[in-house]
Amino acid sequence: MNDHDDVLGWAGEEAARFRAGLTDRPVQPPIDIEAARAALGTLEREGVTALDAVRQLAGVVSPAATATAGPRYFGFVVGGALDSASAADVLTTAWDQPAYNALSSPIAALVEDIVGGWLKDLLHIPASASFGLVTGGQGGNNVGLAAARHRVLANVGWNVERDGLFGAPPIRVVAGAERHATVDRGLRMLGVGDGAIESVAADANGAIEVGDLERVLSNGRDGPIIVCLQAGNVNTGAFDPLRAAIEVSHRFGAWVHVDGAFGLWAATNPRTASLVDGIELADSWSTDGHKWLNVPYDSGFVFCADPDAHAASMAYTAAYLGQPSDLRSPGDFVPESSRRARGFAAYAALRELGRDGVADLVERCCHLARRFASGLAGLDGVEVANEVVLNQVLVRFGDDDAVTDRVVAEAQRDGTCWMGGTTWRGHRYMRLSVSNWQTTEADIDRSILAIARIAAATKEP
Ligand SMILES: *Cc1c(COP(=O)(O)O)cnc(C)c1O
Repeated sequence: MNDHDDVLGWAGEEAARFRAGLTDRPVQPPIDIEAARAALGTLEREGVTALDAVRQLAGVVSPAATATAGPRYFGFVVGGALDSASAADVLTTAWDQPAYNALSSPIAALVEDIVGGWLKDLLHIPASASFGLVTGGQGGNNVGLAAARHRVLANVGWNVERDGLFGAPPIRVVAGAERHATVDRGLRMLGVGDGAIESVAADANGAIEVGDLERVLSNGRDGPIIVCLQAGNVNTGAFDPLRAAIEVSHRFGAWVHVDGAFGLWAATNPRTASLVDGIELADSWSTDGHKWLNVPYDSGFVFCADPDAHAASMAYTAAYLGQPSDLRSPGDFVPESSRRARGFAAYAALRELGRDGVADLVERCCHLARRFASGLAGLDGVEVANEVVLNQVLVRFGDDDAVTDRVVAEAQRDGTCWMGGTTWRGHRYMRLSVSNWQTTEADIDRSILAIARIAAATKEP
């Protein structure tokens, strides 16, 4: 088949058409699942041309896709991908590099190396830290916790990579009550178990109380301890007081892992950097590229202040010790062997934005989140529940959880914007996250108007 000019060219045009149409269509179009299933057809004995295959797929998916890349998607913490990063990701697909090591793709290894250095600089992570390009925040937490597991057990003479966890000295894990669920899943996958977690009390906005951290740490055994801190709570945006918490944890000999899936980006702007004060003192860090850096899925970054522990927990050869070439071997710092060359899209995003652009993206989103919060708080019977320290806003429509759920469901159907619902401290809330480069004040104001209209209609009996 010789139609790759046609099919790749067509895909590029379709991608551009799709993205140009995102601003003015329903953010989550209604979709008839059965009609879509029928249009996708069944697996035939004979194939079709490459172009026909892709046209059939796009004919169903493009009109049905949720406009997460558009300016009024406020669900979860979903940053819409930048044009540069999206285009680089298209090329990444075309280049099809297995970014395992410097032999499989020297150029992918080089670009990852450059990206890792830039990220450490931007995120206030020590230049000596190792890093890995992973699938996302979950991947970053898994790797950070695996490195932690290696080091805290090696410190008591146990080789966990060789001998596993059966018979190992137990590991204490101390984490905030409002930690992200991916920390628990990471511990389950690592064989530590989420039952090992000793919970630290959090304040009204979800940040841990350092006094309680100290109490929990001193109430248990000495020995292997991992402390998981959070930069940016997924509901409220709250930050654990990192400097004080890390200092206390280190006094107890603990490894400190920071889950900063989106919050770590606060480091890039002087106006928000105080939120992550002390971040450089941690032992491992996880963050997302596909959230606030606005890189397409899947993009996450893990960093480790202890490169030996990092590589010992991931590498299956000792290549990282004596490299066959001068190039860092990407596969030694992540759990995958054959993997997408994730560095290209991240490179393009960082190159397009520059330092100032990243800082500006963070600042703009925080400003727009505050605008959202004050606009909604001005409505009758509407309460903003969190202190808007970053880009997350929690909103409640009266005392009845069912009313809030109905407003969220109606707003999702309405299509002007999209946001999810969440449970926070026993009550239901609308959760808004502003994390997209395209969002403007006009988008926020238009969304406030739509939510106000829906809330007014929903309250009437
Ligand atoms: C989103 C998020 C994660 C998980 O990240 P994924 O990229 O979805 O794997 C972890 N921690 C926090 C605080 C998050 O917001």
